[in-house]
Amino acid sequence: MLTIGCHLSSSKGYAAMADAAASIGADTFQFFTRNPRGGKAKAIDPADVTAFRERAARAGIDVILAHAPYTLNPAAADERVAEFARQTMADDLARMEATPGQLYNFHPGCHVKQGADVGVAKIADVLNEVLAPGQSTTVLLETMAGKGTEVGGRFEELAAIIERVELSDQVGVCLDTCHVWDGGYDIAGDLDGVLAEFDRVVGLDRLRAIHLNDSLNPLGARKDRHAAIGEGRIGFEALSAVTRHPALRHLPFFLETPHDDLSGYADEIARLRAAWEG
Ligand code: FE
Ligand code: FE
Ligand code: ZN
Repeated sequence: MLTIGCHLSSSKGYAAMADAAASIGADTFQFFTRNPRGGKAKAIDPADVTAFRERAARAGIDVILAHAPYTLNPAAADERVAEFARQTMADDLARMEATPGQLYNFHPGCHVKQGADVGVAKIADVLNEVLAPGQSTTVLLETMAGKGTEVGGRFEELAAIIERVELSDQVGVCLDTCHVWDGGYDIAGDLDGVLAEFDRVVGLDRLRAIHLNDSLNPLGARKDRHAAIGEGRIGFEALSAVTRHPALRHLPFFLETPHDDLSGYADEIARLRAAWEG
């Protein structure tokens, strides 16, 4: 069975997210660990976690993906900014032990004027400080569009970060289809070729999740503007092929597409499931 869901609001807690996922035919979901612009996280409510476990089991939800605030910059030159990223990620990872064995995704960050090599080293330093032996969460580096000075727009940069991480068994990659497309990887014209390159540079065994998004912009645009599935330049057929690829079909897929309400996701999930089961 295709494991698929979408980004959901975490404002009402875990059990409410499991219910929302079930209501749209999803069997996984993504959520922000706190306000995406940063700020303090709400304390985890043990009763909510207990209710979540029951409802998740009933809805067939096994894996869930927490997303770090996108304003964090572990690559920052300003030590206070890097320290804020460290503290936030360490706090998120401690909180995630309430739901053990799950996934935590973050944007590697922007090197600004320091150069990608310095950015790579700083991101690895942050990971080496926040990862602890025995932590059950797998931390995922998200592939980025390469907009501005984003680190992680090239597979080589992700590999270089992972290479420097001591507890690298706890680290993986989340591939965002809009981002890699905008970064110049032609997943519509040559998915096999892109995956072969990912395997050669990073290793397909590192790939743990997919952000499934269409892109408003052409291949290589380095823009990062998501479109609904089938309403962008990648197209429904190519994105469905991503979900069906033998190297990917077992992974969890997360929609981060623009919709006003949950019905838009229910529709995308239904269409992708139908094509997957084809
Ligand atoms: Fe993201
Ligand atoms: Fe994403
Ligand atoms: Zn994006």
